[in-house]
Amino acid sequence: MTDLKPYEQYLWSPKREDYENTGVPEDIDCVFCAQVDGDERVTKAAIFEDEFLMVELNIFPYNTGHLMVVPKRHVNDLTDLEENERNRLFAMVQKVEKLQKKVVEPAGIDIGMNIGKAAGESIPHLHVQLVPIYEKDRGFMETTLDTKVMKKSIEDMEREYEQETEILENYWDKA
Ligand SMILES: [Zn+2]
Repeated sequence: MTDLKPYEQYLWSPKREDYENTGVPEDIDCVFCAQVDGDERVTKAAIFEDEFLMVELNIFPYNTGHLMVVPKRHVNDLTDLEENERNRLFAMVQKVEKLQKKVVEPAGIDIGMNIGKAAGESIPHLHVQLVPIYEKDRGFMETTLDTKVMKKSIEDMEREYEQETEILENYWDKA
């Protein structure tokens, strides 16, 4: 049984370097669109990016190695994607599954989307979350204190994934 949600607190076992949360400025309507626009006030830990999508680390991860695949075009619902966009998005989701299996060797991967606030959506811009699940995920801190102990920093995860991003290249060869 997994419990996929952001935690109240994080206890970063390694030192957390650059990704302190400073809050999103009020004039930013959509964090992902701000990332696409290159707004430097929002953090982006992308390991891959092209004209269509971004693959990035969630800086408030549900678990170590949590990645997101985000189409650059702002849409709310899966049904808003054109057929070609849908296929291209999920071609990348497949590659990210492969990447996570190689880099973080999870016991499983929870792949999901939150469509609408009632479903836990925090950013109303379509994205697919891939959350690695490990054998021993929930200890005392998680179950009693709603605090997630993170064994690796975002920076370390970014570096580890970036060494294998070859897996993600050529995910889409249809013009
Ligand atoms: Zn957006």
